[in-house]
Amino acid sequence: MDGRMSAVLGDITRMPVDAIVNAANSTLLGGGGVDGAIHRAAGPELLAECRALGGCATGEAKMTAGYALPARHVIHTVGPVWRGGGHGEDALLASCYRKSLLLAKTHALKSVAFPAISTGVYRFPLEQACEIAVRTVGEFLSDDRTLEKVIFVCFDAGTLALYQERMAGRRP
Ligand code: ADP
Repeated sequence: MDGRMSAVLGDITRMPVDAIVNAANSTLLGGGGVDGAIHRAAGPELLAECRALGGCATGEAKMTAGYALPARHVIHTVGPVWRGGGHGEDALLASCYRKSLLLAKTHALKSVAFPAISTGVYRFPLEQACEIAVRTVGEFLSDDRTLEKVIFVCFDAGTLALYQERMAGRRP
């Protein structure tokens, strides 16, 4: 890649980017994991804006303001629950990354941070999810000149190592 895609170890709620992506559930009314952390850090106004959105389908994305977060916006996307791999999980996960980036591009955002969508309570196999994330973001960036930075924010060192391996393996 040309350096626009990177991975860091950290907490996505601390990222000072144009948008952080939330691994939300279809109600958009908050939950555990990264979703809970984002709502806690953003404050109650985030939930109020989310209530007006009327939920979100799996593989789709919707945007709100970031409120008390250092990020200006939150892009809420709903990853697939892993059900063995035969239920369109790969395509739905790729769609989360694509639709989130499309939304960012539509709003002329320059920097976006992603968590490892679906790899927590939704149980998507981590290596497979990581491969899909890096491939889909890489493909998007190769056709796009508006986004300047896409950061994968990894919550543990093992996840970071997987992303770094995947990114190193990509052809420019
Ligand atoms: P899902 O329901 O999509 O599986 P989870 O929130 O359970 O979402 O987990 C998604 C990923 O986000 C997991 O890899 C988890 O370790 C990670 N995660 C949890 N909290 C944070 C955080 N504050 N910042 C970045 N990643 C996080």
